[in-house]
Amino acid sequence: MCRHLAYLGPPVALRTLLLDPPYSLLRQSWAPRDMRGGGTVNADGFGVGWYPRDPAPGQRRDGGGEPARGGGTPVRYRRDTPIWSDPTLPELAAATSSGAVLAAVRSATVGMPVVATAAAPFADGRWLFSHNGVVRGWPDSVAGLAAELPVRDLLTLDAPTDSALLWALVRHRLRAGAELADAVAGTVAAVTGVAPGSRLNLLLTDGSTVVASVAGHALSVLATADSVLVASEPCDDDPAWRPVPDGRLVVATTSGVRLSALVGA
Ligand code: GLN
Repeated sequence: MCRHLAYLGPPVALRTLLLDPPYSLLRQSWAPRDMRGGGTVNADGFGVGWYPRDPAPGQRRDGGGEPARGGGTPVRYRRDTPIWSDPTLPELAAATSSGAVLAAVRSATVGMPVVATAAAPFADGRWLFSHNGVVRGWPDSVAGLAAELPVRDLLTLDAPTDSALLWALVRHRLRAGAELADAVAGTVAAVTGVAPGSRLNLLLTDGSTVVASVAGHALSVLATADSVLVASEPCDDDPAWRPVPDGRLVVATTSGVRLSALVGA
């Protein structure tokens, strides 16, 4: 059971998402409030990806244009150690602001390696991805799906884990031109078809839209007039947090949150 979150909105210091809230990812790493699916702590690594804020217009070398929220290629910081033990994160998270962030703390599934490259977010181009859950019957159950990927995608998996393969499956759909929502929903349906009972809470962003599947683990959403936070569990006691029922797909932007049925989950 990992815990993950994604934020879109006005730029905020990373620490206000990861470290400061009463039930922050930091706290969820040692005292998660929702423990379904086994595991007790999320201490097998962590990661954060953010879209760097563009320089103010006057400081831009090209001299113009409005800074775009979440534009460009995200930056990542991933480690294979508990988030509470990292000596760099507090300073980094205080000094870094962004309007689009995806972060996770990891509890490795039994048999899967504890390495930094197995920690979310997985990334490619402008996309960031995380998986909370497990693929049942791994790896044999998904051998047929893996065989449909280009061999170079398999040879360059971030890690020999179910989450890394799920990212390769999602990315393959994105590269073929799928919308974020279709890439996530299609992957959940395909994997559920060959590996029933899998827990497939996927989280994907391109810096402007967040897509999340709810299939086996908890997820909640906090939307305000100009921001949205999607998280495995509420980070504070704000009564505006809304739990999302199982079997739903969430598509969130700063202007609204849409829920739909997750077909096949
Ligand atoms: N199975 C994935 C891994 O080992 C995700 C684990 C989880 O959600 N706890 O990384």
